[in-house]
Order: sequence, then structure tokens, then C-alpha cells
Amino acid sequence: MEHQDCIFCKIIAGQILAEKIKETPDLIVIKDISPQAPIHYLIVPKKHIKNLQSVSDLDQELLGSILLMAKELSVDLSNPQEFRLISNNGASVGQSVFHIHFHFLAGKQFSE
Ligand code: AMP
Ligand code: ZN
Repeated sequence: MEHQDCIFCKIIAGQILAEKIKETPDLIVIKDISPQAPIHYLIVPKKHIKNLQSVSDLDQELLGSILLMAKELSVDLSNPQEFRLISNNGASVGQSVFHIHFHFLAGKQFSE
């Protein structure tokens, strides 16, 4: 399932180090290497899927598990337990790693 030259596949395979926050059989949560907020995690399915345009009905449970993981991560936040969940899908909207992932951002005031 691992894709050559995919940085997230390499992290999942343990070939590149990342700061792991949580791991389940289907997901890893890592710290973003270039944080845009005091808390900036990436929720990454272990299955290599390019982006949301590439998912299928078979991925329904996996996609649900991402939202439930976001809720689980929010439990560890100090008040307020509020966060942003962002997914960039396509180069023109800012996707730079073409292995589906969701940015979990918290710990600051967002203006927009
Ligand atoms: P996106 O631009 O939405 O595709 O998000 C990719 C994210 O991956 C960016 O926020 C990067 O800072 C982050 N990133 C890239 N390489 C690594 C890495 N080796 N470890 C952790 N985060 C990374
Ligand atoms: Zn990958």
C-alpha cells in the first residue's frame, strides 16, 4: 500500500521520523513540522489516498474515524475545547502532500 516518494507513507512505515501523538490500526496523528498554531496536528489515514476526490464508498468508515479522532484530540485541549479541522484538496487550494490528511489546529484565536 506504501507509495514511493510519499512522505506520509514513509512516516507511517517508520522510514522518516515524526512526532507521533496517537496511532490506531487505521490512522496516525503527528505534529506538523511547520506549525501554524500552538497545537497543529495532522490526522493521516495509513491507507494511501491522494485526497478527498479519490475516496470511495469503501472509505466511509475510515472517513468517519477521522472525525471521531478529531473529537478525541479535543478532549485533551484545555478550555475552550475548540479547534479547526482543515483539509486541502488540490494544489490550487494549498495541498502540498498528496496523501490525504486533516489539519487539527487549536490554541489560538483565529480571525477568519
Ligand atoms: P498540505 O499543505 O495541506 O498538503 O499539508 C501538508 C502539511 O504537511 C504541511 O503543513 C507541512 O508542514 C506538513 N509536513 C510536511 N512534511 C512533514 C513531516 N516530515 N512531518 C510533519 N509534517 C510535515
Ligand atoms: Zn502516502
